[in-house]
Amino acid sequence: MGITTSKFVWMNGKFVKWQDAKVHMLTHALHYGSAIYEGVHAYKTDEGTALFRLNEHIDRFFYSANALSMSIKFTKSQLISSVKKLIKMNKIGDGYVRPLAYYGYGNVGVFPKDIPTDIALIAIPWGYYYTKDLRIRTSSFIRHSDKSSVYGAKLSGNYANSILAMHEVRKKGYDEALMLDENGYVAEGPAENIFLVKNGNLITPNSRSALPGITRDSIIRISKGMGIKSYEKNVTLQEVKNADELFFCGTATEVAPIISVDDKIIGNGKAGEITSKIKGKFYDVVRGKDRKYRKWLTFVD
Ligand code: PMP
Repeated sequence: MGITTSKFVWMNGKFVKWQDAKVHMLTHALHYGSAIYEGVHAYKTDEGTALFRLNEHIDRFFYSANALSMSIKFTKSQLISSVKKLIKMNKIGDGYVRPLAYYGYGNVGVFPKDIPTDIALIAIPWGYYYTKDLRIRTSSFIRHSDKSSVYGAKLSGNYANSILAMHEVRKKGYDEALMLDENGYVAEGPAENIFLVKNGNLITPNSRSALPGITRDSIIRISKGMGIKSYEKNVTLQEVKNADELFFCGTATEVAPIISVDDKIIGNGKAGEITSKIKGKFYDVVRGKDRKYRKWLTFVD
């Protein structure tokens, strides 16, 4: 997907022009992946632009920053109001917000001694991450365990692992990777969680190598409201391949049906019925059409 630029970027408390949002080559995070980030989806609704579960994303932003011992010199409410302002200044309807905290300019050592934590908020207009149903392949790279990284933290450095997996499977012609954990159980995709549908129920991995995603949590709650049971368990690759339906989910990905795994066709090779129902309901929720979940929306006006 090509990038659509916007007018302003928020950097360390100031709104700067898009073309001026730059960093020095010795920025620590560029060398060591010493950054943390969030992705927040903005949706056009009948009552203006709304950010989906912004509070939870900002909470995770602080959790991740803490994992890397970063000090964020802004409060949660300051960041939330800056995100809202940025969306308005950039006149964004459907869009994506990327809050980023990174170790900035200082020295060249791995340990970020005396290096400031810089913060940026980037907001861009955005459509869909995937517009087709996915053919995925298991990667030979395993996902970080909670012994090699911090469970639940969205650390930029972790994504080298995702990139390795994606290169591996894209080179072979697949759309997306499926990653296992150190015990051989299914973890997640490179940037999304996975759900199986089996006998009308939803199953999602409980692996400590998977990010406990905010969309995943939303899907569990939304499907409960639809009368669909869900549970977490150790999920094997065999179970994934024998699922009735499969889908990935995430802030960017939303709900993306998976139609084959390692060339094994899932169901009838098309997006499943339950997946499609959940996807439809998810769009109603994020676009403010279901009042029950309005608490998840932060309106910018
Ligand atoms: N796993 C990984 C590795 C991710 O990067 C993401 C995207 N943030 C997800 C899962 C889905 O999480 P969320 O629904 O909170 O976006």
